[in-house]
Amino acid sequence: MKILDVFIQHAKSSLNKPFSYLYDGDAPIGVGYRVLVSFGKQERLMGFVARVSETNLTAKELEEANGFRIEFIHSVVDKEPLLNDELLQLADEVSQYYIAPKISVLQAMLPQSLKPSISSLRGPKIAYEDYLEAVDVDEDGLTDKQIESLRLVAKSELILKREAGTPAIVNALLKKGKVRIVKREKQRLHLEEYEKERPHDLNFEQLRAYEDILNSDKDVVLLQGVTGSGKTEVYLHLSEEYLKMGKNILMLVPEISLTPRMVEYFSRRFQSKVAILHSELTPAEKYDEYRRIAKGEAQVVVGARSAVFAPLSDIGLIILDEEHVESYKQDGQPHYHAREVAIMRAKHFGAKVLLGSATPSFETKARAMKGVYGYATILHRANAQELPATEIIDLTDKTIVDRQTKIFSKPLLDKMMEKVGKGEQAILLINRRGYSSYVSCSRCGHIFSCPGCRGNLTYHKEDGMLKCHHCGYVAQYPEVCPECGSTQIMRVGFGTERICKILNERFPELRVGRLDSDIGKVRNNVQKTLDAFKRHEYDVLVGTQMIAKGHDFPLVTLVGVVLADIGLSLPSFRANETTFELIAQCVGRSGRGESKGEALIQTYNPTHFAITLGAEQNYEAFYRREMQNRHISLYPPYAFLIAISISAKSEEKCVQASHALKDEILKAGFEDVTVLGPVTPYFSIVGDRHQRSLLVKYKKAPGIKKYLSDLQAEMSGKGGVEFGFDVDPIDY
Ligand code: ADP
Ligand code: ZN
Ligand code: ZN
Repeated sequence: MKILDVFIQHAKSSLNKPFSYLYDGDAPIGVGYRVLVSFGKQERLMGFVARVSETNLTAKELEEANGFRIEFIHSVVDKEPLLNDELLQLADEVSQYYIAPKISVLQAMLPQSLKPSISSLRGPKIAYEDYLEAVDVDEDGLTDKQIESLRLVAKSELILKREAGTPAIVNALLKKGKVRIVKREKQRLHLEEYEKERPHDLNFEQLRAYEDILNSDKDVVLLQGVTGSGKTEVYLHLSEEYLKMGKNILMLVPEISLTPRMVEYFSRRFQSKVAILHSELTPAEKYDEYRRIAKGEAQVVVGARSAVFAPLSDIGLIILDEEHVESYKQDGQPHYHAREVAIMRAKHFGAKVLLGSATPSFETKARAMKGVYGYATILHRANAQELPATEIIDLTDKTIVDRQTKIFSKPLLDKMMEKVGKGEQAILLINRRGYSSYVSCSRCGHIFSCPGCRGNLTYHKEDGMLKCHHCGYVAQYPEVCPECGSTQIMRVGFGTERICKILNERFPELRVGRLDSDIGKVRNNVQKTLDAFKRHEYDVLVGTQMIAKGHDFPLVTLVGVVLADIGLSLPSFRANETTFELIAQCVGRSGRGESKGEALIQTYNPTHFAITLGAEQNYEAFYRREMQNRHISLYPPYAFLIAISISAKSEEKCVQASHALKDEILKAGFEDVTVLGPVTPYFSIVGDRHQRSLLVKYKKAPGIKKYLSDLQAEMSGKGGVEFGFDVDPIDY
């Protein structure tokens, strides 16, 4: 008989340990198999086997020896382990690095129908299709129709049963033993057939970057190339080189529905070698692609964040395009970042990781500057186009604001109509994040910020208060502006929808398209909108940062940022960085075709360095300046952060536990660890649970993660309190 150590499907910190079950069946079992078990009052849960050991004792003897009864599993679910050794080991590593329940990591790694969770049993399965194969081509005694059909089958190696003839004819042939059925896995994903494309020759700068990357002795290399410098072409050439060496390629993009051109580029170049994994696929399609990769039928995988877990073997190169984009970090448990996971995987294979961006994340840039990562650059655009001419528009100058719309300046509207009149296109950009939580004076642009830590205050609907997410400061919702006395305080709701409506009212003839995450919720909608814009069915596209990244629209000669300040008001140490990035990236969208582009940036802070340097696309100057801020306030990359979320049904217990946890950590005697909080997070109640959070900051604290993980095991679950960690949080 076997004893199985099993992780239960619930990703709760208090259940993050294996439980023992018995198994004495004949079906194969091992690490990486799923099993059905009962657990407490729950009759049927999914479990994941983490260890198998043999025992000579009977169930009864075990019960006597242990003092409690060990249950038998109900059944074994899989016929083979779900993950190979490399991926099982990766699951451990990710779970340790991110202090995340192991089961949550496994769930993040696997497609829906393979997840260790009971709902996976309803997910798509392998689908088979019937093909025919000729067995006996002797045509004696067959009707003409049957002969016709048999010849067709004989001629083709394998042919779909339904394509070989009517059911009656085919069944007759089957009965007479002329043909037989062969079952083959059905491929549900039909990729567009792309014609093979001849690669561009690399220009001088691209070639130098390519060689620097190939020859670098570092495992991780940053490729910093301005927008439009042709980084994609470098990725393609490098991929070709690694394929020649017999190695496989993992190509990650921030969100594939937003950068479909990467799929197109890779498919054109590498044809059927490419598999795709991203959120626009149906679960069935994802499952098929996953299996195709696991069976070794793809050499290149192009995909979004979770594709970093693709069961690709022999990886030689992992590329993250637009490595600074925050969608590489998963929002929920486990809060992994595809970049870190890529580096873990690359270590296993001795592979190279290439991080590409025009505006690298500070973490990456700092490591490249320190020589921890290799560094390659492309300083000029591939088509030698000049960067767009940029103008910053000061919205505090009321004479400049358009009376009717109130949120647009006259120069932006004039410029937009001028371009549209010439048959060109414009993009209007709105910052998705922080919208509506941001409070400001509509007369002078004053933004309400925290007197304690200068972070911006956000509006909480449930109690009508303004709150600081850094230090916990709260204030009444203001009646007048402390700067100018105006009573026109606005909770900014610059949704894309509203902007579109305002534009339509002002210019009924203008064809306005919209792109945001609401649109993105409907499958293929993003792609449709982008295609329509590319076909010039819209004059103007209004959108969130989705449109700021990666797209190539030759007719776009104007980019307008409707309000650059929204990013600055975010309660995050990254507020400047994200504002800079947004402006620099979207300015880079303009003027990719024949005509020179222009960019107009509307702001209440026309002299703020994140805005002025973003407009100039002067990454280096911005980096130097913002790094000083990070240094002074001790934020990444000068320190590491771990955010801890504490939740309980009782608010009192939640607060108590938060303070207790903070005290414990401080008492543990780590040298340079500070703990901030507890604070009430923006979503202070999730479901029926109250939330609080703590922030742990440290420079070097060996063993801190192990310590926190042990502490979690010891303290969580008690009194219904749960802890969760976000290692390297994006927003704080
Ligand atoms: P990035 O990703 O660095 O912003 P892209 O890869 O989108 O830039 O390339 C910008 C444009 O330059 C694309 O239209 C691409 O086809 C073109 N391009 C890239 N490399 C070359 C080259 N070597 N010769 C000619 N055109 C190129
Ligand atoms: Zn004011
Ligand atoms: Zn504060």
